Amino acid sequence: MLTLEDMDKTAPGGVYLCQVNDNVSCGACCGLYNVADLSREKLNQMLSDRTDTFLNIAREIDAIVEFGENILAAQTKTRPYPEFYHCPYIGFIGKNGKRVGCLLHPAAEGNKNVDYRGLGYYGSMTCNIYFCPSYTNVSDNFKRLIRDASQDWYSYGLLITESVLINAFLTEAEKRIQRKIDEENIRLNPDFAGVVREFINLKASWPFRPASDTPANYFFKDKLYAKKDNDYSKTRSSSFTSRFDTILKELGSSFQTDEEIKQAEAMIESLLKKFQESTANV
Ligand code: SF4
Ligand code: SF4
Repeated sequence: MLTLEDMDKTAPGGVYLCQVNDNVSCGACCGLYNVADLSREKLNQMLSDRTDTFLNIAREIDAIVEFGENILAAQTKTRPYPEFYHCPYIGFIGKNGKRVGCLLHPAAEGNKNVDYRGLGYYGSMTCNIYFCPSYTNVSDNFKRLIRDASQDWYSYGLLITESVLINAFLTEAEKRIQRKIDEENIRLNPDFAGVVREFINLKASWPFRPASDTPANYFFKDKLYAKKDNDYSKTRSSSFTSRFDTILKELGSSFQTDEEIKQAEAMIESLLKKFQESTANV
């Protein structure tokens, strides 16, 4: 069986991000988060149900295709990104089915090393060779840091495609610390992993994202759904721009009052301070 280190050797950028461990993986490019309700609870239920159903499907072309059609027919059409797909074959895989992955993959339960991904929308070749922009756009040490600190597929997958956000926040953290941070910092101070996880979870829990917006991320090169610039027009000065402008934009923010901007900045500042404190003596 291939290890994570083996996979690193073949991954663009040298850090494999898709399937990390028994609990951590990503399915964002399969459209995992492109569903009407992408709360952790709803996604868990959706993936559990379809995985259970798929286990009892005969591994025959007609049965597999019908399974996919039934899933898509039952889904609401109000996806965050209507032009983007949601693959019905993303489910739970691995030991005890605790991480997201492809139910058609040759190693998935019941497939007996047969690759059924050719029956998916993108076809086997695309599913096999696609690597999202984070592979090449995020610094190696940042990728390893997030990969090592993550504990669950839900928040990992929501963040790992956010290349601009990751680079902006962790570059600022490095500036404050005046040196590089990576997974070695976790080894030297296990509390540091908790601070990194606070950053990872910020994406899912960011309180200044309008209810009408999605925490999902559209990271494809056509930029059909680019992030909106921050609107500071309700602040005291028309020339105001937050010192955390990029971070706030990438988190998806909308501010109604000056006080809200201050609160958002204070949250970022507080997290940066925790990075400083937890790396102070290591
Ligand atoms: S979005 Fe990126 S990290 Fe996630 S599964 Fe696709 S290629 Fe892997
Ligand atoms: S068939 Fe392709 S797009 Fe669908 S879950 Fe598998 S890898 Fe993802």
